[in-house]
Amino acid sequence: MNVKNIKAFGTETPEASLEQLNIDRREVTLKDIEIDILYCGVCHSDLHFARNDWGFSVYPVVPGHEIVGKVIKIGEGITKFKAGDLVAVGCLVDSCRTCNNCKNDLEQYCPEYVGTYGGQDKYLNMQTFGGYSESIVVDEHFVLKIPENLDLAGVAPILCAGITTWSPLQHWNVGKDSKVAVVGLGGLGHMAIKLADALGADVTLFSRSPNKIQDALDLGADRVVISTDEDQMANVQSHFDLIIDTVPYAHDINPYVGTLNTNGTLVLVGYLGPLDPMLHSVPMILGRKAVAGSLIGGIAETQELLDFCGKHNIISDIEIIKMQDINEAYERMLKSDIKYRFVIDMKSLKE
Ligand code: NAP
Ligand code: ZN
Ligand code: ZN
Repeated sequence: MNVKNIKAFGTETPEASLEQLNIDRREVTLKDIEIDILYCGVCHSDLHFARNDWGFSVYPVVPGHEIVGKVIKIGEGITKFKAGDLVAVGCLVDSCRTCNNCKNDLEQYCPEYVGTYGGQDKYLNMQTFGGYSESIVVDEHFVLKIPENLDLAGVAPILCAGITTWSPLQHWNVGKDSKVAVVGLGGLGHMAIKLADALGADVTLFSRSPNKIQDALDLGADRVVISTDEDQMANVQSHFDLIIDTVPYAHDINPYVGTLNTNGTLVLVGYLGPLDPMLHSVPMILGRKAVAGSLIGGIAETQELLDFCGKHNIISDIEIIKMQDINEAYERMLKSDIKYRFVIDMKSLKE
């Protein structure tokens, strides 16, 4: 298969800083689209993966799955896109297309799903490389259209932070009568607040950080509960229909289960791994409460979200950085020193 060698930014080991390296992209096949990458959002998953926090990274790692760009080449079988179109790619670049999940637009739960980075590229028989790169070649099924009215850089985080919080809001039927809470005001958290608010829900933020209260209210939250304050936590017992927990590291979720109403669900989207401390079943059994998980969203659902954001003029609150600033950005993300998503201007890699 013909390949094209391009510039990217990544790491060869969990300990090393990210630096410039070269990777191969396949030439477009019949159903492929080649995209010149304009912007790429910086997700906390990029940092987890670069540093092998989950134990399954394959090196070199080139992160980035909040991709916005311009079509530069299309395969002969492409009818939906043309050169010059502005398009987006999220966390998925392939799946089997035949299993029940794929048939039901749940490609993210396909056993053969291919992540935008660290997945198994069946064309080049190696790991996939993400959006911290000049360009990407993606099957058209996984390429999304961007509403024309939205700022391109602000769209990028919708592709992961947006869809990861939108999918549970949709699955648990959040609407104007719903009481929703979000745990953690970061990239995912700020999109969760905006989207739940746009759906008409009553929205509460649980945060460790009193300095984020005004921002949360400005983003659309109706109130903020400081999670370390026992009195504030006591005031919201048995209250919420849905809680979306975005915290990236192990933390005690039992206090949040207490704040669910009967039949309420706490959905974990942040931390991957065993719960510590363990989950106590008594409040769950006494209130028919559930603890669930959720992974990004399917392709059709992501397009619905982009269209919803176009209609409601929703984009992410971002700070634009250069590719060369990525290591500093990771350190700042670990300190929660970001309002509320870094987006890389990919011109900086091409200079
Ligand atoms: P982020 O921007 O770093 O935000 C995380 C927020 O969680 C922080 O702003 C902070 O909010 C809170 N937090 C951070 N460390 C904490 C700790 N040790 N204890 C308690 N709270 C803490 O991260 P993100 O990009 O939103 O990603 C969040 C997590 O979601 C990551 O683990 C990422 O890998 C995961 N993720 C999952 C999916 C999925 O499909 N399920 C998709 C994308 C990302 P406060 O200061 O307000 O407390
Ligand atoms: Zn992500
Ligand atoms: Zn499948």
